[in-house]
Amino acid sequence: MSVILTLLAALIASGACAYHRSSLRTWAIVTIVATLVVGLLAHAPWTTAILLIVELAIALPLLLVDFRRKQISLPLLKLFATVTPKLSETEQTALEAGTVGFEGELFSGKPDWHELLKQPKPELSVEEQAFMDGPVEELCGMIDDWQITHELADLPPNVWDFIKRNRFFGMIIPKQYGGLQFSALAHSAVLQKLNSMSATVASTVAVPNSLGPAELLLHYGSDEQKNHYLPRLAVGEEIPCFALTGPYAGSDATSIPDVGIVCRQVVDGIETLGIKLTFDKRYITLAPIATVVGLAFRMYDPEHLLGDKEDLGITLALLPRSTPGLEIGRRHFPLNIPFQNGPIRGKGVFAPLSVLIGGPQMAGHGWRMLVECLSVGRAISLPSNATGGMRASALATGAYARMRKQFGLAVARFEGVEEALARIGGLTYATAALSRATAAAVDRGEKPAVPSAIAKYHATEWARQIAADTMDVHGGKAVQLGPKNYAGRGWSAVPIAITVEGANIMTRSLMIFGQGAIRCHPYVLKEMQALSIADRGEQLKTFDRLLFGHIGFGISNAVRSFAMGLSGARLGETAGDAYTRRYYRKLDRYSAALALCADVFMGVLGGKLKFKEKLSARLGDVLSYLYIASSMLKQYEDNGRPEADRPFLAWGFHECMWLIQNALDGAIRNFPVRPVAWLLRALVFPLGRREVPPSDRLGRRVAALLTAPNEALDRLTDWVYTTPTPNNTIGRMKALLPDVIAAEPVDRKFGKALKSGQFKSHDYLGQLAEAQQAGVISEAEADLLRRVREGVFEFISVDDFDSDELRAFKTRADAA
Ligand SMILES: Cc1cc2nc3c(=O)[nH]c(=O)nc-3n(C[C@H](O)[C@H](O)[C@H](O)COP(=O)(O)OP(=O)(O)OC[C@H]3O[C@@H](n4cnc5c(N)ncnc54)[C@H](O)[C@@H]3O)c2cc1C
Repeated sequence: MSVILTLLAALIASGACAYHRSSLRTWAIVTIVATLVVGLLAHAPWTTAILLIVELAIALPLLLVDFRRKQISLPLLKLFATVTPKLSETEQTALEAGTVGFEGELFSGKPDWHELLKQPKPELSVEEQAFMDGPVEELCGMIDDWQITHELADLPPNVWDFIKRNRFFGMIIPKQYGGLQFSALAHSAVLQKLNSMSATVASTVAVPNSLGPAELLLHYGSDEQKNHYLPRLAVGEEIPCFALTGPYAGSDATSIPDVGIVCRQVVDGIETLGIKLTFDKRYITLAPIATVVGLAFRMYDPEHLLGDKEDLGITLALLPRSTPGLEIGRRHFPLNIPFQNGPIRGKGVFAPLSVLIGGPQMAGHGWRMLVECLSVGRAISLPSNATGGMRASALATGAYARMRKQFGLAVARFEGVEEALARIGGLTYATAALSRATAAAVDRGEKPAVPSAIAKYHATEWARQIAADTMDVHGGKAVQLGPKNYAGRGWSAVPIAITVEGANIMTRSLMIFGQGAIRCHPYVLKEMQALSIADRGEQLKTFDRLLFGHIGFGISNAVRSFAMGLSGARLGETAGDAYTRRYYRKLDRYSAALALCADVFMGVLGGKLKFKEKLSARLGDVLSYLYIASSMLKQYEDNGRPEADRPFLAWGFHECMWLIQNALDGAIRNFPVRPVAWLLRALVFPLGRREVPPSDRLGRRVAALLTAPNEALDRLTDWVYTTPTPNNTIGRMKALLPDVIAAEPVDRKFGKALKSGQFKSHDYLGQLAEAQQAGVISEAEADLLRRVREGVFEFISVDDFDSDELRAFKTRADAA
């Protein structure tokens, strides 16, 4: 017994130091003192002596810094240099682009929640709110999505004109150039509201404000280029597009075969130094109507007209549409969402060097420019469009499920439908929090490379889920296309969002963890960078400090993951109030588990982990769900901890924890080195898999929030266009919902009387009149039922067409 007590004392003292991340010196002192005191009190002299020898044998070499560096760190540095995979220039650029924000804390195993909670609440300025209430509201009122998607396959001229005149294309352009200079939050809010009406309009507005000529010019353009283009882009005098993708280079964008050869050519009688461009691009948004084309190509200088280097690398240029030889104009047809999109080609197109963005000195820097801008653009466009669509779906599907009756009940009352509604509510809350977090990061001046990949992937994947649930709950109503259908085009648009700005499979498998692990990890990138320190002494010193910091970090995460797993994440100081504290504790636990698994996976598999996408994707999922759950908690705090929102928060949070558990379990289960996997399982899940998905009861509470007006639903559907204009079915459904709810008890009374067989009439209105006459319902109640039936009929109705009306296009035979 005394032996066990002494051993336990040493273990607990060591564990406590690791848990709290004490220094090596503190660990040694605390462990030795605990062993001595408990050992002597328990009368276990031999055990105490053996333990002390072991502890000193470990502590002394580590505490003698010179000895440690030469005997331990130096051989390990040599080994590290040989096993560390050499990063390609492309990977190096991707890793160095962007900044690390709160996601770094999530990778630390011990997030500092104060860092997150002290960030200011993101809010629209007065001017931005006025724009939302003015031009955005007006634009939404002008949109007829059926006309756009079916009749014109384009925006009508008045909508184009309104967008340009009101500078929707200049949201990211500073005021000095005539732009709106909006915050990322406002930019996001505008896109969300537009997408609640039309994916085509939202995509059209999103593109010039995302990665493209304006963004690139702002960061890298010469003053002359900025002064020329930005004022014209702001007011839509110039329409931009950006062409990177081609038939042979999609996801692997650095492999573009498009070339620009530096040469001299006589232009208007003057010998001009320029580039001869040959390129074949496709899928380019706004290309058919673009007046200025951003072009990515590989630049070569075989005659050394610019310098010694022959292969200069990826370079970006802006070509005016009038450039001789530039071929654009025809259109692709992206899944019935007819925003302008098409190919661009050119063979031997000559352009002067002045077309290079930033001038000749920026030749070869194109990839870095693109990656840096992408981390900002990707944080806004697609997450915002997805969120806008999801918010509108939540509003529409909740209202429709309450209005649509089958088997004598509103379909919302059936548990199967309730399940879909709960998913819509919970995932919309989570996605809204996620896109708000990435917009806020951009507004803090970050270039959120990892969060933007998380937001792009998860917002669009969840939008796909919500689009499917929305279709299912609406049944045939959502299947039959026409002016009355507000769901079908959203369903069509989802795969576009999944594919663009980094196709989702690749974003999840390669980018989130690949960049996240190295960028956010407190040691890995610094250790890799230490390899390039030229001064050997300095290199060893730096590597030694990082190495032992890293080992301590790993041990601490193992202890923290195990201890918090053992207590079911019920113990420990953390943030939050009585309601949210348990949530923060769970995040602490899984943050430690992620940090531990990431270290072990990278340590054991090394460079091979890059090719084990199924493993790294799962670890990326853990990072993503930690980020999303933190964003939800921040949103809840910023909104003043509203009790009404708790069902949404709880559903979204438990779903994230459930998905984290599945991801960790899957990663460990499939880890190829089995003994390591067994150890990891014991440390991560000491009591087994205890997380459960959101309960049915919780789902019922979420569904209830979606099917009746309330403040939580108002917050969830913020920025949806809800004005009940003739073009806005969802707005009119929202307006009718209170009447539908008020009519329910009257309808029950009427139904009961109907069942008793006391009325002779066979039609609804006749029965209603009889019920009123019989005093079953009052006149006002009969009026209410009549009004609601008429109103609901409009919303459950679908369109029909003559064959000719549907034949919107010439057949190929006609065209020939
Ligand atoms: C409507 C639309 C608008 C667009 N607008 C523009 C634009 O304005 N400008 C522009 O330059 N481009 C644009 N694009 C191109 C878009 O960025 C590409 O479609 C995208 O990069 C994917 O390339 P791809 O379609 O050739 O798919 P591929 O690269 O052929 O990919 C096929 C599949 O393989 C997966 N994959 C590829 N590599 C990996 C990997 N290493 N690991 C795991 N999975 C992988 C992908 O995720 C995808 O699922 C647009 C595309 C569309 C459809």
